[in-house]
Order: sequence, then structure tokens, then C-alpha cells
Amino acid sequence: MDKSQEIVDLRKEYLMPCLGFFYKNPPVFERGEMQYLYDVDGKKYLDFFAGVSVMNCGHSNPFILERVINQLSKLQHLTQVYLTSPIVELAEKLSKVLPGDIHNSFFCMSGSEANEGAMLLARIFTGKKKFIALESSLHGRTNLTMAATNIPMWRADPFLPEDILFISHDPEKVLTELEEVLKNNNDIAAFISEPIQGNGGIITPPDWYFKEISKLLKKYNVLFICDEVQTGFARSGSMFAIEEYDVVPDILTMSKALGNGIPIAAFSTTKEIAASFTSPSASTLGGNPVSCTSALAVLDYIKQNNLADKAKKLGGYLREKLENLKEKHPTIKEVRGKGLMLGAELVETDGQPAFEKLDQVLEQLKDRGIILGKNGLHRNVLAFQPPLVINQEDIDFLIEELDLALGNVFG
Ligand code: PMP
Repeated sequence: MDKSQEIVDLRKEYLMPCLGFFYKNPPVFERGEMQYLYDVDGKKYLDFFAGVSVMNCGHSNPFILERVINQLSKLQHLTQVYLTSPIVELAEKLSKVLPGDIHNSFFCMSGSEANEGAMLLARIFTGKKKFIALESSLHGRTNLTMAATNIPMWRADPFLPEDILFISHDPEKVLTELEEVLKNNNDIAAFISEPIQGNGGIITPPDWYFKEISKLLKKYNVLFICDEVQTGFARSGSMFAIEEYDVVPDILTMSKALGNGIPIAAFSTTKEIAASFTSPSASTLGGNPVSCTSALAVLDYIKQNNLADKAKKLGGYLREKLENLKEKHPTIKEVRGKGLMLGAELVETDGQPAFEKLDQVLEQLKDRGIILGKNGLHRNVLAFQPPLVINQEDIDFLIEELDLALGNVFG
């Protein structure tokens, strides 16, 4: 039996059936090297999904690896009630790159946990219970963050709390609906939103969007929690995507690319809001010396290699090429996103979401050595979210192969 089938069978036997996987014939990956992956047969792939925007600095990046291995061999774990240096060094360094006056951080393990913590903090600070979130949002798998998630397939719990009021993300409706909800409810702690919706399908609001939303939130004394779990750490062309919108949120959450593959997450806020969080709270594994060392190395690597500028420049190049493909292949309805977080929505000739054909495109690209992502409410958006260490030749290779695959599948 081949390795791929063996792993599929073991997943079926020992994991939970909720866990799906990409591809009819999925490769088994064994090794990564910056923007490239290798399967057990030694076949090389260009990674254009980065484990969902996690490996921004590349797989097994030697600069990060050296520091992490060194920390692993010195001190691995103690938990937050003991004093160690990396956690405070990281909090200090983060405060210098976070937007505006965002200053204090709490470290935990996953994006869901960071958002859950941010929502708890908003409740503590405001003394209010409810939240506003956008349609097609995704904020996590814990009880409250799943309730704030609007993508039906990611709302497994049949008994979710009813503390979230959803409004349309449509720029034509969002302000009216937001003001309506704010006017009619005096128990709202915060509005939570991704700057660019990732799983929702790289939904990218216009420039004015968050400025106008923030004005309304301030008018009604409601906090803004910005979920940068997927957008953070140079991907959008700025360190945080909300900076592209020239807005400073009250609480910012992060995970994924912060650790470049080592689990770490955080929620960060102003000194004033942080001061309200006095009841004891600590995460056993959160902010341990190894994950904080990885995050410190990530921040240094991003800065030293100008990854934000690189994402902007290469993202612009990729976008132009995708727009050209759109001219040639009418199945591409729209290209959207910022920096190296781009999406291409695929539709059938009658305008219906082309999710089955999208899977065929992904399969062909995989066979030709490219790993591309997908997302969107109807799973019909190609997601281009590579490690930020790719180069122009990688993009040219992707475009050439995508052109061929679209031609094969859509005719
Ligand atoms: N927020 C956003 C915007 C995400 O994209 C995700 C995961 N895709 C999460 C939260 C949840 O993160 P995690 O899987 O680390 O809990």
C-alpha cells in the first residue's frame, strides 16, 4: 500500500471524522525548505498557501531555526508564573510594531484562544455582554469565537450562545446596519472583525471602511477587536493589515505567522484597557520560552528582510498577472486582496460558484508541483497566501501552470 493511502486509513481509524483533507490523491509531505515542500517520494512543490498564512518566513528558516534550537536546548518550559526573559522581550518588541498605542499583551496558544481572550477582556472592560460581527467571518472554534463565526460549515455547535449580532460586510450596507444595531442595543462590548476576511474568501473592504466603522463605534462607546490571526505579520504589505486602513483598533489578536510554525498567539491592547484585566488568568503553555524565542526571531527576520515591502511589491506583481489571467479566463470573476493575501473567485458560465472545478484545478496544480489554497463561503475562491520569501520566478511558474490548469478544466 502506498504511504498516502496508509495515512488516509490511519486518519480514518484514529482521528475524528470532522477532519477533512485536500486532494483526491494527496501527497505525504516530509520536509520543507523556505517556500518549497518535498513529499516522501522526494517530489518538490512550490508552497503557495504557507499552512494558511503561518509560514510567512518560510519552512525551516535557518535564521529562526538556530535560535529556536538553541532555546530548546537551554530551557523549554516553565509556565507563566515563573520569571523568564523571552516573554517580556517579545511583549516589548511587539509593543514597538503594534499600531498606535497598543501596548500590553497576553500570550496564549491559538487564534481561537486569542479571540476568546480578547472578547473576555472587552466584557471585563466595558461591563457589557454582546458583540457585533460581520457576515462570512471566521474567529475560531471555542464557544464564543465559534458563535462569532458566520461561515455555516465552521459552526458545529448546535447550542451556540446568542450573544453575537451579525451585520452585512457589504460596503453598501455595513454602516447603516451597524448604526441600527448600535442604536437599538446598549449591551454591546465590542465589534470584532478581520481586516480582510480570510476563510470568508479574501473579502477586502474599501479604504474608507474601518475608519467609518471606528467613528460609529466610538460614538456608541463600543470597542473594536481586530482579528489579525490570518492577516498579521507583513502579509498584507503592512505589518498588520489594519494599518492599510489607517485605523488603530482597541484590541488586536494574532497567532499563525507570529510563531512561524511554533504555536503561539496573543491579544494586545492599550494600557488603559489592559489595566482592567486584574482577575487572575494564565495560560500553561502560552508564551513559553521556545515559542517566544521563535516569535522574536520572526520579528527580526521580517524587519531585516523587509518582508512587508516584499509582500507589497510581489503581491502587486502577482495581482497584475492574475488580472491578465482574468481577461483570458472568464471563470475568474474577481481578483481581490492586499499584498500576498490574494484571492481569485471562480464561477461557472451561469455565474454559479465553481467549487468542483476549483478542486480539479488544485489537483492539477498539485500534480505539477504547486500547493495552492482555497476558501470562501462556497469554497470557490483560489487563495494565494505563500511564504513571503518567494521570488518573481516562483510567481511566473505559478501563473504559467494556473493558466494551463484553468484551460484544461474550464476549456
Ligand atoms: N481567526 C482567523 C481570522 C482565522 O483565520 C483563524 C483560523 N483560520 C482563527 C481565528 C482560528 O485560529 P486557530 O485555528 O489558531 O484557533
